Amino acid sequence: MLRPIFLALSRQPGLARFALRHPILRRTALRFVAGERLDEAVEAVRGLNAAGLAATLDHLGENTTTRGEAEGSAAEYLAILDELHRTAADNNLSLKLTQLGLDLDAALCEAHLRRILDGAGATFVRIDMEGSPYTERTLGVFERMWAAGYRNVGVVIQSYLRRSVSDVERLIALGARVRLVKGAYAEPPSVAFPHKRDVDAAFARLAEQLLRRGAYPAIATHDERLIAAARRVASAHGIGPDRFEFQMLYGIRRDLQMRLRREGHRVRIYVPFGREWYPYFMRRLAERPANVMFVLGSLVRERGERGAGRGA
Ligand SMILES: Cc1cc2nc3c(=O)[nH]c(=O)nc-3n(C[C@H](O)[C@H](O)[C@H](O)COP(=O)(O)OP(=O)(O)OC[C@H]3O[C@@H](n4cnc5c(N)ncnc54)[C@H](O)[C@@H]3O)c2cc1C
Repeated sequence: MLRPIFLALSRQPGLARFALRHPILRRTALRFVAGERLDEAVEAVRGLNAAGLAATLDHLGENTTTRGEAEGSAAEYLAILDELHRTAADNNLSLKLTQLGLDLDAALCEAHLRRILDGAGATFVRIDMEGSPYTERTLGVFERMWAAGYRNVGVVIQSYLRRSVSDVERLIALGARVRLVKGAYAEPPSVAFPHKRDVDAAFARLAEQLLRRGAYPAIATHDERLIAAARRVASAHGIGPDRFEFQMLYGIRRDLQMRLRREGHRVRIYVPFGREWYPYFMRRLAERPANVMFVLGSLVRERGERGAGRGA
């Protein structure tokens, strides 16, 4: 299958450098990424807000390798918060702990996160979940923030992980806000369900657990069957649309995003931006073979046009 190949390619820095220089790949990535600059992303957020959709803004980047990079990421997030505060709408921030230096020094990463949460004020900050080597550490950092009194922060649970049922219980017990996703990384079968049907079944069970007993969960999927199942649970248990939200990725299933909004649901769009779009883009290709065909089609068309150009 293509998924493991694209996930392996997503971790190749040499390819990332190549992709950044390749105009067609950059243009194609912009289908999923709201630009390389903050002003472009803010414009996209304002467009979503005008259509009745909320946003969560993500400055792309992960696995920083120096303290300077981690410091730069934290400063960038504080600048993003200033912009978000100016939008005066219910927009959030999403970030990754490895971007703030989790691989280098956990204490440094936590110090950066505290600065961001202090700067965020009433703006909610979601800690994205990365590959399984980071699950426990991410939950640990989150729990320490919670114990320190921060309530403007939440975390993500991946339904493909075998451990997620107990993690969800752990977070429900705290009263923490959880975003539920299927999971986007390459994981061994000892850690994650290898078959999609098991990942989907786990998602449905965890969504029910969170809707019935959790605190304002975010059901983050484009899977119409799972969205319908969540809606059935909500209506069977009298859970109003103000007690949870659906979340989807920028550029994916815009029709579904708007349909849910029209039907009275809260919908939040994850809006990534920045120059480090390569791993994020590769994960989106891994999710859907049709996206790979789209990229190949663009490359073939470009070669054709260049060929035609040379002939003229
Ligand atoms: C708001 C949000 C935040 C996320 N945060 C995290 C995170 O912190 N950690 C993490 O591991 N993962 C995260 N993810 C990614 C998630 O784990 C899945 O990889 C991703 O959502 C695709 O799975 P799906 O639930 O849409 O279901 P799938 O079964 O993969 O897809 C269902 C349908 O959605 C559409 N679709 C799905 N993906 C694509 C795509 N790339 N291009 C075009 N159409 C597509 C197709 O119509 C497909 O048939 C996040 C996803 C969302 C929506």
